[in-house]
Amino acid sequence: MQTSVIGYPRVGSLRELKFATEKYFKNDITQEALLAQAKALRAEHLKSMKESGIDFIPVNDFSFYDGMLDTVVLLNATPARYRKLNVSELDTYFAMARGYQKDGKDVKALAMKKWFNTNYHYMVPEIEDDADIRLAGKKPFDEFKEALTGGVVAKPVLIGPFTFLKLARYTGTKSAADFADAFAAAYSETLKKFADLGAKWVQFDEPALVYDLTADEIALFEKLYRVILTAKGSVKVLLQTYFGDIRDAYDTVTKLGFDGIGIDFLEGQKSFELVSTKGFPAQTVLFAGLVNGKNIWKNHYRKTIGRLNELSAFAKEIVLSTSCSLLHVPYTLKNENKLPEAYKRHFAFAEEKLVELAELAKISGSEGSDAISEVLAANDALFATARPDCENATVRARLQAVSEADFERKPAFAEREKIQKEALALPQFPTTTIGSFPQTADVKANRKAFKAGQISEEEYKKFNQEKIRECVKLQEELDLDVLVHGEYERNDMVEYFGEQLKGYLFTEKAWVQSYGTRCVKPPIVWGDISREKPMTVEWSVFAKSCTNRPMKGMLTGPVTILNWSFPREDITHKESALQIALAIRDEVLDLEAAGINIIQIDEAALREKLPLRKSDWYSEYLDWAIPAFRLVHSGVKASTQIHTHMCYSEFTDIIPVIDNMDADVITFEASRSDLLILDALRANNFKTEVGPGVYDIHSPRVPSEEEIVNALSRMLARINPEKLWVNPDCGLKTRGTTETVASLKNMVAAAKRLRAAD
Ligand code: GLN
Ligand code: ZN
Repeated sequence: MQTSVIGYPRVGSLRELKFATEKYFKNDITQEALLAQAKALRAEHLKSMKESGIDFIPVNDFSFYDGMLDTVVLLNATPARYRKLNVSELDTYFAMARGYQKDGKDVKALAMKKWFNTNYHYMVPEIEDDADIRLAGKKPFDEFKEALTGGVVAKPVLIGPFTFLKLARYTGTKSAADFADAFAAAYSETLKKFADLGAKWVQFDEPALVYDLTADEIALFEKLYRVILTAKGSVKVLLQTYFGDIRDAYDTVTKLGFDGIGIDFLEGQKSFELVSTKGFPAQTVLFAGLVNGKNIWKNHYRKTIGRLNELSAFAKEIVLSTSCSLLHVPYTLKNENKLPEAYKRHFAFAEEKLVELAELAKISGSEGSDAISEVLAANDALFATARPDCENATVRARLQAVSEADFERKPAFAEREKIQKEALALPQFPTTTIGSFPQTADVKANRKAFKAGQISEEEYKKFNQEKIRECVKLQEELDLDVLVHGEYERNDMVEYFGEQLKGYLFTEKAWVQSYGTRCVKPPIVWGDISREKPMTVEWSVFAKSCTNRPMKGMLTGPVTILNWSFPREDITHKESALQIALAIRDEVLDLEAAGINIIQIDEAALREKLPLRKSDWYSEYLDWAIPAFRLVHSGVKASTQIHTHMCYSEFTDIIPVIDNMDADVITFEASRSDLLILDALRANNFKTEVGPGVYDIHSPRVPSEEEIVNALSRMLARINPEKLWVNPDCGLKTRGTTETVASLKNMVAAAKRLRAAD
């Protein structure tokens, strides 16, 4: 059996590309040096795949920033404002990625969005009415030739026209359909060029096929590919899908005559059913996505072989493939020196997945031979034995004992609201912040020194306590109503809790690209999650001792903690989320017992894992995600006020769900959106009190008092004044101190002006 890799990580096993690119941004290295680094990385990846014996090796999966952005350049879709900069091709590209501010020129970057249900972000193409779409770039061809020189006839990978058109933004009056002919022509030409260069297969990525699709969209897909497939000549076309099943387009896709169709059998819940009930075209090769490109657990060989055998009844020829690009997993386990072997042997990062593909292909070809059975036996053994420190009977029993009543906070919202108003006696339009204060260099240095063992725990704490004292004093001077401790002890809102929760594992170098040069290192949910001791109480209590004003406790919610981790696969996400919820619940109750009577539970990533298909939103996700949040706070007294925070305002379509989290107050981003969300809140009779961010913390700009008064007045036109809170968009940790103080000063002044006017 042959093997295929959809795409490979790009940044380098030690983030070499990130560092080189950032140096280039700072003018520390030349363009040639950056290009050379990129070339070296590509050669290395090619070598890994060649040595592992991968048959379909991707090229053009490399990118300096993002594949959608590469496609913009390839198709001549660079918006006019970037062309006008008149800088080198590479700098025009980076200008679209990051904006350009130099020599009196000032152009903002293209918008960035999450790539389907991953934590990778793509640049949103902007297509102008007069865009002259045609094949204009060389990158895919150059990279194909480069691989040829390295002795590999690779499989060029391109984002397909349907996905590109569906994700693009149209700035004028035209829409996707108006550009269909131009796109079909440009992609057809690509195939011709590849045929001339000697390519055998070309892969078009069409993950957009896993969304709910309208008849018009399916018609657009068909129109595009009817043209493209006619033009393909001697090259074979692989239509690659991933991140789900293609139930809406399956009939269309299978009738068009693709040479290969790539289907995700891991995330695609209906993939197997589609193939087995509808059949699969006899002339088409099935690229079966069975090695997980999104998670880091070893493949269960026996299961995979079983699925391959089942599939062979429906497809004449099968190629074993990753389920999606390996971009979403870290490079290699080789750099993990601290992780004990007993844990490590359960993982496969990108490099190890190449070995899995090769081993699986061998096993499926020659079951029964001795050397092969040995590999299979070792894999069987791995899955047959319990993982160390994984199961926790107490946690299991506790979860078993959870009843309906534990998801229900009493008394109901309206009654609580009254009790809290009385108990807290806050002024109208209470002012607060989202939690973190600027993480200045000294704060980071202190944490680093502590982690490196250069200072004692006592010294570390003392420093942070001083910071907290200053922060509280500053907030009092600013006259904020509900104070925070500043979160100086946290470097990341998930890592901080993961490090203290039992059941979590941490890696050293397991970076995954999030966007451009930014990488994240998600922790791993290894086993049953429990809390061994309070995680935040000491800091909050100390902060409270510095003031007479209300001090808000600050936690991350279970859904966000899980969504920003690599989850377990042996139990459901629901189970993991509920385990985390119980751990955070204990923290909530400890904070309350310690006298903290306002507690914020951030769910910054709640929306992120909303299933791609609307029909799956509830059954697959919200039906456990919302209860998990409710379980965290249902045990508090009526007088304890529960806040939550979300870093976005795109929840117009799930407003009742957000209300159903049953928090007392929610703060969210609103300063950059058009406040439509507020109309929607009103239309839905939203009960929760709201703090729509009054200014944007993602920029160093200081909003004037006037501006904030205006924002608030517009909010008041839509929100019951008794329910309105005044706060920034999000945490202040990435901001400088000066701009933070100036902005908060204006914010408090604006709130006071409104109070006086009321
Ligand atoms: N409480 C966190 C902070 O203020 C929230 C961060 C976030 O929402 N991303 O930093
Ligand atoms: Zn936020």
